[in-house]
Amino acid sequence: MSSNGPDGPQAPMPAIHEERTVPVEHDADIVVVGAGPGGFAAALQAARMGAKVILVEKFDMPGGVHTSGLQGSAGAGVGGIHSELMARFADEGLIYTATEKTHPDWAGNPLSHYERFKTPGDPFTRMTFNPEGAGCVMSQMLEEAGVTALYQTRFVDCVMAQGPGDDRIRAIVVENASGRQAITGRIFIEGSGTGELVARAGAPFVRGGGGQPDTAAWDGVARPIPGGLLWFMNNVDFDAVVRHQRDAQDPLLEKVIAEAQAAGDLPADLYRPRMAGSNIYGDFYIGHPTVDMSPIAADGTYCFWQNVPYELALHMDESAADEALATRLLRGFVAAEAGFLRKYVPGFENAAIAGVGRYVGVRDGRHPVGEHVFSLEDARAERRFPDAVTRPMKKAFHWDGHRPYEIEVPFRCFLPKKVDNLILTGASLSFTYDTIFMVMRNFPWCSQTGEIAGFAAARCIGQKIGPKELDWSQPYF
Ligand SMILES: Cc1cc2nc3c(=O)[nH]c(=O)nc-3n(C[C@H](O)[C@H](O)[C@H](O)COP(=O)(O)OP(=O)(O)OC[C@H]3O[C@@H](n4cnc5c(N)ncnc54)[C@H](O)[C@@H]3O)c2cc1C
Repeated sequence: MSSNGPDGPQAPMPAIHEERTVPVEHDADIVVVGAGPGGFAAALQAARMGAKVILVEKFDMPGGVHTSGLQGSAGAGVGGIHSELMARFADEGLIYTATEKTHPDWAGNPLSHYERFKTPGDPFTRMTFNPEGAGCVMSQMLEEAGVTALYQTRFVDCVMAQGPGDDRIRAIVVENASGRQAITGRIFIEGSGTGELVARAGAPFVRGGGGQPDTAAWDGVARPIPGGLLWFMNNVDFDAVVRHQRDAQDPLLEKVIAEAQAAGDLPADLYRPRMAGSNIYGDFYIGHPTVDMSPIAADGTYCFWQNVPYELALHMDESAADEALATRLLRGFVAAEAGFLRKYVPGFENAAIAGVGRYVGVRDGRHPVGEHVFSLEDARAERRFPDAVTRPMKKAFHWDGHRPYEIEVPFRCFLPKKVDNLILTGASLSFTYDTIFMVMRNFPWCSQTGEIAGFAAARCIGQKIGPKELDWSQPYF
């Protein structure tokens, strides 16, 4: 490993050999790493089927990007645990619904993250759940099912079986308040959202940023689809914002942004132009020309997006330096944007930062290579699989003119190559980067894949077989 100094790269740093014995503190049938929608649903389903399950999560609640990351997007249940979650959140009063009645000037408003392409006045429904409250409910559900959930516990390594030809994980190593400890198990589930367990187990993966924009100007640098930090402001008077947009003819707030920039109140990179183009990224998360916001959680509360500058090509899932840079940069952007809004934009005078995501979420991390890698060709050909996990799902690609395809995903996408007792879920399923914005990463699907993984793992424990020996011939959903 080398380090960078003011005069460029310095000599490689020396390596230190570390060897220590780690106590085994837990043993379970099924060990799940990460409690995002994938890991959460896997642990819950497997425990409900009678398996002994341990779940490790580095933050203080389940839900991943959707709770710790403040994403909070709700919707109609797609069945199974996802529907149950939506019903539980509704019962607890955690669902907030914005429509054209509560937000008459929202549809078609250029500040809207999701509804900006609608015609002004169009009906819309935006449902969100309160991320902090949702985390409490999800934690309670795991308790009820008997899952041993270890929060504030970071997965750091993997111990593989020793015998020749034995490609199984024997234990994971974690760090928490008790120090470094091992957890042994029979089946392991990848729920880190970034293929971290896959990487530590030595299974193959493709780095984020694998495919690139099909622009002539591309310089060959692998740039992942940027990750992002979400944050909330409350006490926003959106009617006053709209009056400013109309009266000052400033729909994108460009005039007040220019004023703040001239006064030295905004970092140069805060409002970047969207990347134009017909490639698969389009303008998705590549630059924010103006304030990007969406109603969430309560009247007067809005969620804002800060994305990593695309040009920086940060791989936050595999580089501590990149992760630290992204965190410093985006926290700075949040402070600057909040200050700008309060000082320059009518309607924000009394608004306050109500929360910042616990981390910069990764959109395009490691993509594990499974026994099947779901691809754009599979979708376009509407390919059918004998081991499909769902009945055909209708999904639209924005870069194919929103043409809907009826897709199926085979169980083999849950089975990583090279390791025999590991099952994939969520954003760590086996798929090509260019299917990310289809179905392969959204909250409902990540919950579904978790539930399928938990079901498969519990069946394997019952039958005393490995996941690759499991006969899968019936769709689960
Ligand atoms: C900024 C951003 C915005 C998004 N917006 C949307 C959206 O609008 N709609 C939508 O449907 N999807 C959205 N997504 C995508 C969606 O949130 C993810 O694809 C989905 O959450 C993936 O689920 P997952 O369970 O695989 O992983 P994650 O949600 O990433 O959860 C992984 C969990 O594992 C834990 N973890 C990771 N490493 C370790 C470790 N070493 N030890 C212990 N625990 C660990 C994390 O703390 C986290 O809780 C967004 C993603 C990002 C990053």
